[in-house]
Amino acid sequence: MSPMRYRTAFRLARSRNRLPFPFRSRPHSSESRIQCRPEPRSSFGIAFDIDGVILGGRAPIGGSPRALRKLYGASGTLKVPFLFLTNGGGIPESRRAAELSEVLGVNILPSQVVQGHTPFRNLLRRYENELIVAVGKGEPALVMSEYGFKKVLSLDEYASYFKDIDPVAQYKMWRTKQALDCSSHLKELVPRYDVYSDRVSAAFVVSDPVDWGRDIQVLCDILRSGGIPGWENGNQPPLYFAADDLEYQAAFPSQRLGMGAFRIALESIFNRIHRSTLEYVSFGKPNPFVFKNTEALLAELQPSQFDDHISESGCSQSHDFKTLYMIGDNPLVDVKGAQQAGHPWFSILTRTGVFKGKDNHKEFPADMVVDTVEEAVDFILKREGTS
Ligand SMILES: [Mg+2]
Repeated sequence: MSPMRYRTAFRLARSRNRLPFPFRSRPHSSESRIQCRPEPRSSFGIAFDIDGVILGGRAPIGGSPRALRKLYGASGTLKVPFLFLTNGGGIPESRRAAELSEVLGVNILPSQVVQGHTPFRNLLRRYENELIVAVGKGEPALVMSEYGFKKVLSLDEYASYFKDIDPVAQYKMWRTKQALDCSSHLKELVPRYDVYSDRVSAAFVVSDPVDWGRDIQVLCDILRSGGIPGWENGNQPPLYFAADDLEYQAAFPSQRLGMGAFRIALESIFNRIHRSTLEYVSFGKPNPFVFKNTEALLAELQPSQFDDHISESGCSQSHDFKTLYMIGDNPLVDVKGAQQAGHPWFSILTRTGVFKGKDNHKEFPADMVVDTVEEAVDFILKREGTS
C-alpha cells in the first residue's frame, strides 16, 4: 500500500468507527505498522483482567507470559487481537504498557491498555480549562494531564496549600520522604493556580487513595463547600470514580479493600455531615459501556483493517467479532460485566485471584472456569481452531 493510500484509509476507518460516547484509544505511530500488515482478520478477541489473572502484585502468575506469546505469529505480529481491561491505574497508559511489556516479555501497545480511569479522557471538553483535583496512588495528576486537562492538581498538592486542613498530619510518621520534603517547604509553596478563590470544578478518584483519612477530609471540604475548602456550604461539584471494586486480589493472601470501599466510606461520612446526599459517577468494570467500548478498541487492533476492506464508497467494512472473551478472576466485576454486555461476550473465570471456588460462582457463573490464564488461552485457541 502506498503511503498516500494508507493515510486515506486510516482516516476513513477511524471516522467510520467513531462512537458517540465511549472512550477511544488514540492512534500511535508505532501501532500503525502492526495494524496494516496483511494478516487475516480474527473472528474473536480477548480482554484480560490484570490483577489476579496476569499479575499477582507485580509478578506474572498462571503462566501469563507463555499464554500471551501464543497470541503472536511466528514473525512476532499480533495474531489475535487482545487488550488488558483493568480497573486499576494511577499511571498513564503508555507507561503501564511499557511496564507490562517488560514483565511479560511481549510488546504491549498503549492502546492495548484500558485502565479504570481511561474513560476520564472523554470528559476533556467539559473540564479542559477548569480547576480539577486528581486523587489516588501513583501519579493521578500526570494521568489527567496526559489526557489533556490543563488545570489539574493532585489532592496531595492541593491539600498542601491549605494550612491545618489535615489536623493529624504531624502524627503521620509513615509519610514518605518526598511528602515530608514537600511539607517542610510549605511556607515557600506558591500555588500554581489561585486555589483560594478558584473553585474546584470536579474531583476525579483516579486510583486507590493512599491516605484515606486525609483524602476523605479534603474531599468533604471540597464537595460540601462548592469547591473551596473552608467556605460555606455550596453545590457539590461532580465527583468521578475510575472504578467501584469493593475488594481486589493483590499480593497479600486475602483480598484488599478497593476503590468501592473508599467510595462507601466517603459517601457514608459525607451524607452524615451534609444536607444533600453524595452524587457521583463510577466507571470501570462491570459497567456495560466499558465492554461495548472494548469491542471497538479490539476492532482497531485487527491486522488488515485498513488494507483490503475498503468498499467502493471508500469506507472500510465494519467488523463484528463472533466471540469476545473476558478472562477475569472476579465474578462480581469481570463475569458480571461480560454477562451484562451480552453477545458476543464469553466469560472465563480463573482461580488465581479473587475466585478460588471448586465449581462455578453461584451468583455470577462464568461460561467457563479454569485454573489459570494459560489454561484459558489454550481453551480459546482450541475452541477457535487456531491452536
Ligand atoms: Mg482482577
